[in-house]
Amino acid sequence: KGKAFVRAPVSSILINEANKAIGVVVKGHCIFSKIVVSAISSTITYKYLIPQTHQHLVQSHLKIIESPELASETGYMSMFVGLQGDSDELNLPKGNLWVCPSWNHDENMKKFRNDYSADFPAIFISFASAKDPTYHTTYPKKSVASIIALGFYEHVEDFKDKRVKHRGDAYNQLKDQWKERMLEIFLKEFPNLKDKIVYVDNGTAITNDFYLGTYHGAACGLAHTPERFRQVEILSPISPIKNLYLSGQDMLTCINLRTRTNLPDRFHAVPNVQYLDIIVDENNDSSEDSFGQNLPPLLHLTNFELRSITQPWTLEELLLLFNQLPIVKNIALYLVSYDRRLVEEEQCSLPHIPKLSRLQRVSFYRSMPSDLNHFSLVFHAAPNLVRLDLPFEFLWQLIENQQIRHVLGQRITSLFIHQNTMSSSSVAFNEEQVPILASTFFRVDVLFTDLTHLRNSPITLPNDNIIEDSTVSNLPVDECQQTNEVVSPGSSESMVICLLREFKKHKLVGLGIRGQFCKILKTNAKQWFQQNTILSNQRFDAVFNDKLHQLLIWM
Ligand SMILES: Cc1cc2nc3c(=O)[nH]c(=O)nc-3n(C[C@H](O)[C@H](O)[C@H](O)COP(=O)(O)OP(=O)(O)OC[C@H]3O[C@@H](n4cnc5c(N)ncnc54)[C@H](O)[C@@H]3O)c2cc1C
Repeated sequence: KGKAFVRAPVSSILINEANKAIGVVVKGHCIFSKIVVSAISSTITYKYLIPQTHQHLVQSHLKIIESPELASETGYMSMFVGLQGDSDELNLPKGNLWVCPSWNHDENMKKFRNDYSADFPAIFISFASAKDPTYHTTYPKKSVASIIALGFYEHVEDFKDKRVKHRGDAYNQLKDQWKERMLEIFLKEFPNLKDKIVYVDNGTAITNDFYLGTYHGAACGLAHTPERFRQVEILSPISPIKNLYLSGQDMLTCINLRTRTNLPDRFHAVPNVQYLDIIVDENNDSSEDSFGQNLPPLLHLTNFELRSITQPWTLEELLLLFNQLPIVKNIALYLVSYDRRLVEEEQCSLPHIPKLSRLQRVSFYRSMPSDLNHFSLVFHAAPNLVRLDLPFEFLWQLIENQQIRHVLGQRITSLFIHQNTMSSSSVAFNEEQVPILASTFFRVDVLFTDLTHLRNSPITLPNDNIIEDSTVSNLPVDECQQTNEVVSPGSSESMVICLLREFKKHKLVGLGIRGQFCKILKTNAKQWFQQNTILSNQRFDAVFNDKLHQLLIWM
């Protein structure tokens, strides 16, 4: 039980004599709590919310956060444009656009920093209304554009202490100058919108500080420099003050590496990384390198993804890798292996598998180890595994193995079944297999499955003529309204009914299905479920997303 406040800026954190956070001050009111979590800028938290009496406790943190290597110097400016007309009419793209004066980004940044009349180093243009399929239902004949430019705090710092909207003529002139230039670039890219603009407003780095609570107008918090990966102790949710924790963008450090160096070098480069996504280059010169004993541990890594299909992996190498990731929670590996213990039926002894107690999710993409008895040891080593993502053919293979079937049944609560990797695959997901799956995965509360291999049911007209769904849209309106749905055996609708019936006997609360469905289900999913499934007397919600061809049901 608790309360949520809006329009409630925290002005100070309450800290007692024992140096423990005990609450916050909001608009002059003290709100007491057992712990305080600050989800805003770490700089603002330490610099402005910690009272003077306790500033000495955070000085060493502040010194590092405000060092030139970490402090974010780049803020941004925004411009919001209102347009008359919908996306189709105005031909608005769903993608974003970046406009830069040249490829020399560093030089362009430097020029603009020294002279705010120089070219903008980068302009970002996006039409949020074109991306939202429901936008025009709520706001017919209207569209919006957001234009963002990099902006330096120092250009507007002189005006920061003046009241918002009353910052004076000099500030307004500066804003207007930027507005005109941003508009010019916008209209150069979209000249057809010139006469459609009905509203324009823009903001600077100090606008962001006022409305969003940013520090010096920064869009993404602290600087994304190599220093960030060395300071994980400082940029940690645990603060120097007891019961005060930090969260949000300054505490999240992730990296995607595309390099030509070998794996140990990459691990050495980012010792404190938390999220790591490595794609081993196809032309990697160091393919001869083996990481042997040189692979350092990544003690903070929680999420790891590795794609390496140029050189084969042995089981020992994989186990060495697992050993160096002591707190990893999510691993996705996309590897090639000729190690017979992983790929052949032959029985042979396995080396020791370390406990994978943080492993929560396993995904299979392209192939399955054929020695499932040995592979089941990996599942056994992961007591907290809860999510499985794989094509149906692999799932079926897995649960044919008694040991694996038992261990997965006990552990998995989220099951994501994807399309088979080959259309010629001998097993396709159908209704006969559903009861077996449901009784195996009796703990599953979230199920997602791809049923695009099944056809939707046809539709009957009142005189019992059966027609294909695709022709419904061509029927006259009154005739269309009189159509009835029939759920034909083997159709995607019949499969949905079956999945609900079987999995609902256990713990199912969320069901997502990708596939082709009859028009009636697509236009009013909730009503269809009320009329056709066991959900008729229950509280639930169902929606169909036309763009993704996806049904979502929450019970
Ligand atoms: C224009 C723009 C475009 C962006 N585009 C992308 C993008 O395309 N992709 C991407 O990944 N990231 C993007 N980002 C960055 C992304 O939005 C941020 O990294 C992310 O929102 C940070 O989340 P957060 O929870 O840490 O902080 P925030 O989302 O900033 O949440 C902090 C909240 O705390 C509130 N707050 C501040 N001070 C106080 C206070 N004293 N008391 C109480 N509440 C307070 C704020 O009002 C805010 O609601 C963009 C940012 C901007 C500004």
